Amino acid sequence: MEDVVNASTPGGSGQIVVAGAGYAGLHVALRLTAKLRNHPMVELTLVDRHDYHQALTELPRVAGGTRAADAVRIPLQDMLAERARFVQTEINGFDLPGRRLLTGAGPIGWNRLVLALGSRPNDFAIPGLAQLAGELAEILPKAASRHGLAPDRPAVLLVEAGPAILAGSSPRLIDKATRILSDLGVQVRTDAAIAAATEEGFRLKDGQLVEGGVFVWAGGVKAPDLVADSALPTGHNGRVKVDRYLRVLDRPEIYVAGDLASVTDPRTGHVLPPLAQVALEEGETVARNLNAELEGGQLEAFTFRDKGFVVSVGTRRAVADIAGITSGGRAAHLLKDAIEWEYRQSVRHLRGWDPIPG
Ligand SMILES: Cc1cc2nc3c(=O)[nH]c(=O)nc-3n(C[C@H](O)[C@H](O)[C@H](O)COP(=O)(O)OP(=O)(O)OC[C@H]3O[C@@H](n4cnc5c(N)ncnc54)[C@H](O)[C@@H]3O)c2cc1C
Repeated sequence: MEDVVNASTPGGSGQIVVAGAGYAGLHVALRLTAKLRNHPMVELTLVDRHDYHQALTELPRVAGGTRAADAVRIPLQDMLAERARFVQTEINGFDLPGRRLLTGAGPIGWNRLVLALGSRPNDFAIPGLAQLAGELAEILPKAASRHGLAPDRPAVLLVEAGPAILAGSSPRLIDKATRILSDLGVQVRTDAAIAAATEEGFRLKDGQLVEGGVFVWAGGVKAPDLVADSALPTGHNGRVKVDRYLRVLDRPEIYVAGDLASVTDPRTGHVLPPLAQVALEEGETVARNLNAELEGGQLEAFTFRDKGFVVSVGTRRAVADIAGITSGGRAAHLLKDAIEWEYRQSVRHLRGWDPIPG
């Protein structure tokens, strides 16, 4: 098996390996594929543990029972033109000096590596918390009656350690989201840090016990363990430190994009949040820079162009901050539906399209 995957020698020239087929990695692979027609000696390999691309932003709908799991998965084999090779396997570690990914299917050598392995749950608040809570509140009355309980028996309590939900959003957007949650009967507790989960529910830092049968943890993300265990330079939450071209510090042969990259926005001084929009833009810059390297052109520094923010609160309403305008309700939800639909279409259209000038 090892020989099959390790077709290129470790560090062999002309091998670009993209680790992770999420928002960032798939974007890099699709953007580069067409361009490689001009470079027949360059091999492009995409590696992921799954044989599908998971549209994670639509998972709350699956959890809420309003969308089928299959509908938010895009089979990778259908997406990738013949020019890219896909290897479905678990990545277990890195041989950095030897320039090899260590995988369940054997080592995979790279000349250029793109790390886009996403993130895993951590323990501090993120926007997705409000969204999950909204969808749960909508389905609980029906679920209760199916189990012979009064519709008002189940309740959703949203607990946030910070002073507000949707941290980092505008006060108007937070206000609108709080109102929608209140309409749905969701109780919101802010400044309430959880100290421990118990059999009865969970205990807050102030000692109060919040009783409950189902405890959904949606408190933030950090880098996967295999990155923490590597010699790669990491910052807050284990995300990998990169230069302005999205290359790992002191390792210019490795690019990082998506949740795994620790990229500071020079306008705010803060590290960019783990969002699909950021992952796609970083993927775009990485694809352009790899292409520039092949063509002998200039690398492009990454700049985040914020297109706005939309988050569902339940299955029918959402809140949005776009071009300085805050909106909330059904229209904002339709906008989120449209963005997700457009994303799935764009992934399909990117196949075989040659978008990079030069
Ligand atoms: C429930 C939920 C809702 C969200 N909602 C929104 C939203 O509304 N708006 C928004 O902007 N963002 C949202 N996000 C965040 C957004 O999904 C992430 O920022 C985005 O997925 C990051 O893209 P990525 O390419 O870095 O990682 P991912 O999309 O997570 O892709 C990582 C890929 O790497 C693969 N992988 C990881 N480790 C290994 C390994 N060891 N071996 C092999 N393969 C591996 C995974 O299978 C996956 O395909 C949401 C996230 C979640 C979980």
